[in-house]
Amino acid sequence: MEEMIIRLQVRACGIVQGVGFRPFVYRIANRFNLTGWVLNDDQGVLIEVQGDDISAEAFLTALSEELPPAATIDNLFVKECQLQEDEADFSIKKSPRAQKRRTAISPDLAVCDDCRREFFTKSDRRYHYPFINCTNCGPRFSIIDDVPYDRANTTMRDFPMCPSCQSEYEDPENRRFHAQPDACGTCGPHCWLCDQEGKVIFKTSEEAILKARAAILEGKIVAIKGIGGYHLACDAKNEAAVALLRKRKHRLEKPLAVMAGSLAQVEKMCLLSGAEEKLLKSASAPIVLLKKKGNSVIAPSVAPNNAYLGVMLPYAPIHLLLLQEDDVFVMTSANFSSEPIIYQNEHLPQIRELVDFFLLHNRAIRMRLDDSVVRIYENAPYFIRRSRGYAPSSLPFLQQPLAILACGAQLKNTFCLVKGDKAIVSHHIGDLENKAAFDAYKDAISHYERLFDVNPQLIAIDLHPDYLSSRYGKSIPLPHYAIQHHHAHLAAVLLENKIEEPALGLALDGTGYGPDGTIWGGEVMLFDYEEYQRLAHFRPLPLPGGPAAVREPWRLALYITQMLSSLEKAPLLAPLVPDGWESLMLATKAGLNAPLTSSAGRLFDAAAALLGLCGKISYEGQAAIELEQCALGYVGRELPYCITGEGTAQVPFVIDLLPAYTALLEMAGSAPVGQLAADFHATFAKSCADVVLRLADMYGVDVLALAGGVCQNLLFLDQVAGYLKNSLKICRSRSLPPNDGAISYGQAAIAACRAQNGIL
Ligand code: ZN
Ligand code: ZN
Ligand code: FE
Repeated sequence: MEEMIIRLQVRACGIVQGVGFRPFVYRIANRFNLTGWVLNDDQGVLIEVQGDDISAEAFLTALSEELPPAATIDNLFVKECQLQEDEADFSIKKSPRAQKRRTAISPDLAVCDDCRREFFTKSDRRYHYPFINCTNCGPRFSIIDDVPYDRANTTMRDFPMCPSCQSEYEDPENRRFHAQPDACGTCGPHCWLCDQEGKVIFKTSEEAILKARAAILEGKIVAIKGIGGYHLACDAKNEAAVALLRKRKHRLEKPLAVMAGSLAQVEKMCLLSGAEEKLLKSASAPIVLLKKKGNSVIAPSVAPNNAYLGVMLPYAPIHLLLLQEDDVFVMTSANFSSEPIIYQNEHLPQIRELVDFFLLHNRAIRMRLDDSVVRIYENAPYFIRRSRGYAPSSLPFLQQPLAILACGAQLKNTFCLVKGDKAIVSHHIGDLENKAAFDAYKDAISHYERLFDVNPQLIAIDLHPDYLSSRYGKSIPLPHYAIQHHHAHLAAVLLENKIEEPALGLALDGTGYGPDGTIWGGEVMLFDYEEYQRLAHFRPLPLPGGPAAVREPWRLALYITQMLSSLEKAPLLAPLVPDGWESLMLATKAGLNAPLTSSAGRLFDAAAALLGLCGKISYEGQAAIELEQCALGYVGRELPYCITGEGTAQVPFVIDLLPAYTALLEMAGSAPVGQLAADFHATFAKSCADVVLRLADMYGVDVLALAGGVCQNLLFLDQVAGYLKNSLKICRSRSLPPNDGAISYGQAAIAACRAQNGIL
C-alpha cells in the first residue's frame, strides 16, 4: 500500500510545562522522521507533525506511552491539518505571549536518578552540587512566583546562568533543555553554615553540609533549609538529642518523622512492602508511615507508643550529602507548635533558641510546603497530609461553569479553587488557630488565585460561624454558601470516586457544627451534592467542661462511668482522674458548660481513657491512635450496643454504645487491655455497619461513602468493610486525606451544585 503524507495538530493539556515535555516531543518526532514544531502556550503544549501516516501514528503512541516521569496529560486533542511545504525539520518554537493562564503547575519533584548519578560522579561539573536538577526533577511549585513558568518568574531569577548552563538550557537534545531552575556551582545558589547567633562559620556548600552532619552526629540540633521550608534535624539514634529537640520545641509526644540515608537503612528499621518502597522512592517523596521492626536503632522518644514510624528518603540534593547510608535523622518542620513552617531567612531569629546551627542557602522559597504524609492501605496511597510533591496538582470536578473559592475547615485546613471542571485543592495549610497561620492562609489564597487565574464568583464556607476560614469567606463581597461539615466530608469522597447518584455516607469525625446547635461527628447521611438527610447518629453525650474535654479524654470517660456505675469500679480510669472531679460532674449533670456531641472521635477517646491508655492528649487524635495500636494483634469480640429510632430525618436511628462501655467496665482489670481495645473497635464497626445495612435496605441505596478523621484508623476501616463489602460499594478518599484536609473540595462540590440549581 502506498504511504500517505499527513499533518496532525496535537494539543496536550495537563502538567506538560517545566517537565521536559518539549524536548521529549522533539526526540520522538526526530525518531519517526517527522517535520513540524512544538511550542508551549497558555493552554499547555501545541504540536504539529508531518510525515507518513504510519510514523505519525507511531508518534502519537510514543507520546502517550513514553511520557517524561513528571508529566501528566489530562486531555489530548488530535486533528488533521493542512500540509506545509518547505519544512525541513522539527523545531521547538518560541512561546507566544501568554494571554490566559490555563497551564497546570508541577509539584516539586525529588532529585532524579540521572541527577543523583551526576551528583556522585567526581568528574561531573556538578559533583556534590546541592542544587543539581533537570527537567525531570527539582523544585517547581515552591519557587514559582508567576506564570508562564519561566526562570524570570521563579526565585531562580537572581541567578543568571553561566555559559555552560546556558548552552545546556538551549540544547533540545540536553536533559536540561529549558530546565528553569538549572544551575551549577559557578552560577547557582549555595549553602553556608551559621551558628545560633547567625554568624557564618562555613561559607562553601560542601563544607557547610558536612559540618552540619558532623554536628548532628554529635547530638546537636540543626535547622536545615530545604524545598518547602526549614526542618529541625537531629540524630534519630540519639535519645538525648531527640529528647532535647522535643523539649525545645514543646512537642511532648506527637511522633516525629525521620529521613533515612538509604532504602537499606529503612529496611533495617521497618517492614516494607513493594507499594511502600515505590511510594518512598517516588518523585513526590512523602513521609511514609511504616510498621516498625522490633530492636530498632531509633531512639524510643521519636515515636513513643506507636507501632508506626514516619519515614522519608532524601529528596533534595542537599540531603544526599547530609545523610550517609546508615544515617537516620529526625526531620521535623521548624515552627512553634501550631504556627506555619518557617521558610524565609529573615524569620530565623524566631527559632534561634531551638537550634545550635543553621544550614542555609540563598535560593528563596516562594510558597512554603510541609512534607506530605501518606501510608499504603490496600496497596494504594492513603493520605494523611497532602502537601509537597502533590500540591498543586488538579483534581477532577463536576462539569460546571463557575469559578469558586471554598474556604475549608479550621483544623488541617486546605482551601480549594475551582474553574470549570478542574479543582485545585491547596497544600496543607494547617490549623487556623493563630495570626501567623491565618496570614499564611490568606497569602496562599491570593497566590493560587493569581497563578491559576481564578476570579471566584462564589464562596463556600463551613457552617461553623467562628472558624477563621468561615469569617474570611464571609468578608468577601460575593454570594456564599455555608456547608455542613460532614456533608462536605462525604461529598468530597463521592466526587473523588466520580459517583453521581445519591449515596449513604458514614461521617466519623472529631467535631463539626450541627445546624441543631449540637456538635456533630458520628453521622449517617443520605446525600448527594446538593443536600443531605441525617438518618442516624451516635447518642449525644455531654463534653464535661466544653473544649477541655477534647484535650482531656478522662472527662467524658468519667461521665460515662458515673452514668453506668461508679469511679471505684473503673480501676484503669481512676489513676487518670485528678482530684476535684466531683464539681465537674455536678456541673455536667446540670448541663453547665457541657455541650452535647455525637462525635465518633470522642467515643474512641473515652474508650482509651476508660482502659487507662490516655487521660490527656498532647496532640490531636492521640487517644484514638493509642487505642488502635493497643488493639493490634487481638481479635475483637462484639459487645452489646443498642439502636433506637426509625431511620428517618425526623426520627433518626440513634446508636447507643453505653452497653458496650458497661461491658468494658466489667472486664477492665481482668482481661488484657489490648483485647478490650479490640472489642471496642469491633463493636463500634459492627454498630455502624448495622445501621448502614438497615438504611441501605430502607432507602434502596447501594453506595456508601466513608469519611472523617476516624477513617484514618485502619483497624476500623478493615472491620467496617468486612461487614459491608458484600452488600454495598464502599468508597473512601483516594488522593485527598479522609480528614478535614478534604473539606474544601467537598464544600466546592456542594456549592457548585446548589448554585447551578438556583438554590442559595
Ligand atoms: Zn534530574
Ligand atoms: Zn552554571
Ligand atoms: Fe471533620
